[in-house]
Amino acid sequence: MEKYVDAFVNSFLGSVEWTWKSIIFEVPWYTNYFWGLTVISLVVWILEISFPWRKEQSIFRRDFWLDGFYMYFNFFLFAIAISGFYKLLGVLFKDVGISSKSLTIIDLSSIPVWGQLLIFFIILDFVQWFTHVLLHKYPFLWKFHKVHHSVKEMGFAAHLRYHWMENIIYKPLKTLGVMVLGGFEPEQAYIVHFIAIAIGHLNHANIKITWGPLKYIFNNPVMHLYHHAYVLPKGSYGVNFGISLSLWDYIFKTNYIPEDSGTIKLGFPGDEKFPQDFFHQNIYGFGKKNQD
Ligand SMILES: [Zn+2]
Ligand SMILES: [Zn+2]
Repeated sequence: MEKYVDAFVNSFLGSVEWTWKSIIFEVPWYTNYFWGLTVISLVVWILEISFPWRKEQSIFRRDFWLDGFYMYFNFFLFAIAISGFYKLLGVLFKDVGISSKSLTIIDLSSIPVWGQLLIFFIILDFVQWFTHVLLHKYPFLWKFHKVHHSVKEMGFAAHLRYHWMENIIYKPLKTLGVMVLGGFEPEQAYIVHFIAIAIGHLNHANIKITWGPLKYIFNNPVMHLYHHAYVLPKGSYGVNFGISLSLWDYIFKTNYIPEDSGTIKLGFPGDEKFPQDFFHQNIYGFGKKNQD
């Protein structure tokens, strides 16, 4: 028992310490997600200000600060809160004989680094695309995902406006993805993580980018804006589920971009009754009366 308590406490304290060390620049720069996220945010924000798609949209758009708070909450505060719990799970699984190497299908260690990173990026992105589809398909998951879709004016920080339960829902499938790859992230996985943050920020930014013919591979602001459309095609529970890659939507025919004015109404039917503040948005998903 003591072993489990120790694992929990040490991991929790380790995360607190790591985050603090990141803030005061005492970790290697390439593992500094605190300042990495901040720099990427500033760069994309400057691009939004310089080349706005919706010219009438304010630089400090609606919910700018709320989304900014979500960004740091989801990336750091929540990560600290949950780290001990995940460590505990890892120890428990190990004790019953399941380790992160139990499911290895592709042995990454035998291929060159760039190949490892590419495979890691593609598998992780597919797993997230699939999870995202589930978030839309099942009402009990959609209740939590509504937080992300309650954005009414789109800007880069909306990327990380999501309910902390999403971290928990995504985790098992992401872990499974890593297990298939031999149970470890490539040493340089930070490159993949930073690229994913940058693409995610751009997807939500008020900038018109389509990547030309590469739009069939990479997700982009025009495509993702339609993911947030208030009015969906008849009979559909969602379109353009892509995270970093648009590829999966084209393969599985969930792509939908009827036009590119950038001025469509965002949200979902009933969002006028959706809570506006952080606290109530976070308890909404647990309420019984919100099963619609
Ligand atoms: Zn969604
Ligand atoms: Zn989004």
